[in-house]
Amino acid sequence: MGLLSQGSPLSWEETKRHADHVRRHGILQFLNIYHAVKDRHKDVLKWGDEVEYMLVSFDHEHKKVQLVLSGEEVLETLQEKGERTNPNHPTLWRPEYGSYMIEGTPGQPYGGTMSEFNTVEDNMRKRRKEATSLLGENQAVCTITSFPRRHSLDCNMHSFRGWRPLPLPVSRKNLRLGCPGFTLPECKPNPVEGGASKSLFFPDEAINKHPRFSTLTRNIRHRRGEKVVINVPIFKDKNTPSPFIETFPEDDEAAKASKPDHIYMDAMGFGMGNCCLQVTFQACSISEARYLYDQLATICPIVMALSAASPFYRGYVSDIDCRWGVISASVDDRTREERGLEPLKNSNYRISKSRYDSIDSYLSKCGEKYNDIDLTIDKEIYEQLLKEGIDHLLAQHVAHLFIRDPLTLFEEKIHLDDANESDHFENIQSTNWQTMRFKPPPPNSDIGWRVEFRPMEVQLTDFENSAYVVFVVLLTRVILSYKLDFLIPLSKVDENMKVAQKRDAVLKEMFYFRKDICKGGNAVVDGCGKAQNSTELAVEEYALMSIDTIINGKEGVFPGLIPILNSYLENMEVDVDTRCSILNYLKLIKKRASGELMTVARWMREFIANHPDYKQDSVITDEMNYSLILKCNQIANELCECPELLGSALRKVKYSGSKTDSSN
Ligand code: GLU
Ligand code: MG
Repeated sequence: MGLLSQGSPLSWEETKRHADHVRRHGILQFLNIYHAVKDRHKDVLKWGDEVEYMLVSFDHEHKKVQLVLSGEEVLETLQEKGERTNPNHPTLWRPEYGSYMIEGTPGQPYGGTMSEFNTVEDNMRKRRKEATSLLGENQAVCTITSFPRRHSLDCNMHSFRGWRPLPLPVSRKNLRLGCPGFTLPECKPNPVEGGASKSLFFPDEAINKHPRFSTLTRNIRHRRGEKVVINVPIFKDKNTPSPFIETFPEDDEAAKASKPDHIYMDAMGFGMGNCCLQVTFQACSISEARYLYDQLATICPIVMALSAASPFYRGYVSDIDCRWGVISASVDDRTREERGLEPLKNSNYRISKSRYDSIDSYLSKCGEKYNDIDLTIDKEIYEQLLKEGIDHLLAQHVAHLFIRDPLTLFEEKIHLDDANESDHFENIQSTNWQTMRFKPPPPNSDIGWRVEFRPMEVQLTDFENSAYVVFVVLLTRVILSYKLDFLIPLSKVDENMKVAQKRDAVLKEMFYFRKDICKGGNAVVDGCGKAQNSTELAVEEYALMSIDTIINGKEGVFPGLIPILNSYLENMEVDVDTRCSILNYLKLIKKRASGELMTVARWMREFIANHPDYKQDSVITDEMNYSLILKCNQIANELCECPELLGSALRKVKYSGSKTDSSN
């Protein structure tokens, strides 16, 4: 999750004092990089995936599953035995927000040849195996987006107005008595001043011990002026109390912030403690990177809905399928003034989104006319960038990122060599967690201009994760080869982002999508006409479509992304084995889009709904959680089949060794 500096972290007050310094030098660092490599061309396509993992421990006797807080030690051993021993080691490991998390990537980036698509899944399997080999008995690495954790307070804390009387306030100590924690070792949340998150539910011990993570947590809360507030709508089942109300008699902040009919959460860990699947591409030039950034931005909500895998939060069934809004709220450091709740007095701007959110402006020339979102920028920085020869679109992009304050700063890292370091630039850049990230090369490196695709939820199996990754990478190949144009007004992409998170969005919702995606092809090269206003465009250029139509196509309406990818593949030289794998991956995506296969979110919902203990009251007990995660782990390790999710024939084709039948 971004830049990891070593040293002594500063408090929010101290960091704030250096905010202008960090921004000023961050911009100088960006300018140095830009001037050095703006004309770099002919970098080759390289790409890599990132998978985030959770470490879990099963207590089979008590039918309990917990998150193991050993990420730091496991990571240390993985790095020691891996990259530090052998620079060509096939996997690379990095820390993540949760002390129960690790992140794995391939040791070397993949290149542009088709056969590499056939190595992705093997590499992911190696990672799973390698990490698993370091765990204790009954422990596993799981690729689940959101752990449906129960929390120690839950047992006594939730009560429902209109269902049973409010409980008398009980002292917090008693509330926890006998209630199990969700971590191993069990830790109690410590909602007092001095803690990093002050959460009622999420103990600071579950935050990675690297100081970046707790400092981010604390400084976000201090900058905001209060704890973060996450309210996720509850799924109303037959026996779910209505209204569903949780009371927090001992905590003023929680009492005020929690909303009826919502699951309330109060810590960064509920968001950043979730796992995702990301892909980064190196483009051949800065302009290709800007083009891909824009094109893929329109795909984010579609692929996010297709990858939906996080229906449960804090032990309840929610009414959303994706983590996005939860993380967004979990790191929302905006002050009340910035959020528009109070008149501007101490803050500089109103800011419409959290630091973790969808992008606010397109970067390519063709995107310009679709930039219809109000963009808050740092005007001085914008002017400075223009003066330095940077064009309007890139200047406003950077000036928008730089409306944010640095959230962490290390005492030893204040004064830097702007010509050869980029930590201040990265400081701001890496805490703008947007759907897409445009990444300038690091100083003095042979890495090119890159873009990162960030909206996907992680899937249960290496097969699925490979499928989503290969789908997105192939999409970039056809976007570039066929000069496709997916652009629509950015405000419509934002609407899609909201819709994409809803329960079963993949089947039930409609998304704005461009109708004629070939028409814009020439524009990419030629420049793109005059800006029109978006309502004029609305009539002709885009329409509401289902994900099935967007992915699989519909006669007379839209050709479909999978048919386009298939025709691209037909024209490519690909060995039989690789072609077979790719076709299987595309079939998974195709069937998830048509509803023939379930998303992980839908499958998890059905699993809980059919659990003998489930009382149709939206509550996930420890035992239900245990059976769910156990099942997920069995599926991931191919100890059982799950045709509803994976399609029985799809995997058999690949793993039985009979490569001939790809008709399914
Ligand atoms: N875990 C975060 C997510 O689910 C992403 C953190 C990162 O940027 O690596 O989106
Ligand atoms: Mg990460």
